[in-house]
Amino acid sequence: MEKELIVIGAGPAGMTAGMYGVRSGLDSLVLERGICGGLSNEAPAIENYPGFNEIGGMELASRMKEHVMKYVEIRELERVDVIEPKADGFEVSTDKNSYHAKAIVICTGTRHRRLGVKGEGEFLGKGVSYCAACDGFFFKNRNVAVVGGGDSAARTALYLYNLGCQVTLIHRRDALRAEQYLQQKLGEADVNICWNSVVKVIKGDNVVKSVVIDTRGVERELPVAGVFVAIGEDPNSELAAKIGVTLDEKNYIITDKSQRTNIKRVYAAGDVTGGLRQVVVACAEGAIAASSAYEDLV
Ligand code: NAP
Repeated sequence: MEKELIVIGAGPAGMTAGMYGVRSGLDSLVLERGICGGLSNEAPAIENYPGFNEIGGMELASRMKEHVMKYVEIRELERVDVIEPKADGFEVSTDKNSYHAKAIVICTGTRHRRLGVKGEGEFLGKGVSYCAACDGFFFKNRNVAVVGGGDSAARTALYLYNLGCQVTLIHRRDALRAEQYLQQKLGEADVNICWNSVVKVIKGDNVVKSVVIDTRGVERELPVAGVFVAIGEDPNSELAAKIGVTLDEKNYIITDKSQRTNIKRVYAAGDVTGGLRQVVVACAEGAIAASSAYEDLV
């Protein structure tokens, strides 16, 4: 199938890029290996997307999808496996089809970073989770641990606290990097914070029963029913790297202000480019990327 613009990934960046592509006159298609929304689906509450005092990530993503699909076709559950540069564009092969595009916008987002400790993989879905909005309900009123010190960890801890959980936040340093507003809310909530502490092992039988934490060389076992890991994300930039797109030292895609990469007619937008990883930024970058593609193609 022949397209002028193919957008890979249908998070906020990809959906917006697709809409701007079509509205600027490009025959565009958005391909998404999962469902629309990406990691924004997991945000229990978004309070800094202008126009909404507070909205659940899933609700916002679903409104975006409904809006954007008035303009552009989005194919969900279709995974891009290979991008192959051709003389006149790119061949994009998925697990279902093969496409030819004159230009590509890569909006493949990020994935949850793993702790890499014993028990993490074994108890995934049996007490270990990376998404409080998805799984928190099952831990209502129970003891849970949250690992991390950024916005995600703070939000996860607050969400679980509001569900009635007894929350212990485990952070490897003596200060959080979460925004001040969240730190203040954490201070007001009855959340126990274990500073200078790392998780050594997650223990259980069929389900999680405890975590062993090491605080400056002293180990102790904390009984918990759930462990929510919120230690940041890593970019899904492998497809881009394979066609020679330049990445930074943390594997995020490097773009200029027009969202152009070092490869002609390849653009990138959203979390996969790093920086301030927020929905509002992803949307803006998606719009800019599609507009740059339009400029380069006409
Ligand atoms: P982050 O800001 O990178 O924070 C990751 C945290 O995990 C840091 O505190 C880090 O510790 C810790 N950490 C990293 N690797 C670790 C390891 N192996 N073991 C133990 N701790 C580890 O990530 P984030 O909180 O996911 O936030 C990412 C981006 O998403 C940010 O830009 C954030 O603003 C955005 N975000 C926005 C919202 C929203 O609603 N607006 C919600 C969530 C996230 P150190 O502090 O020691 O490095």
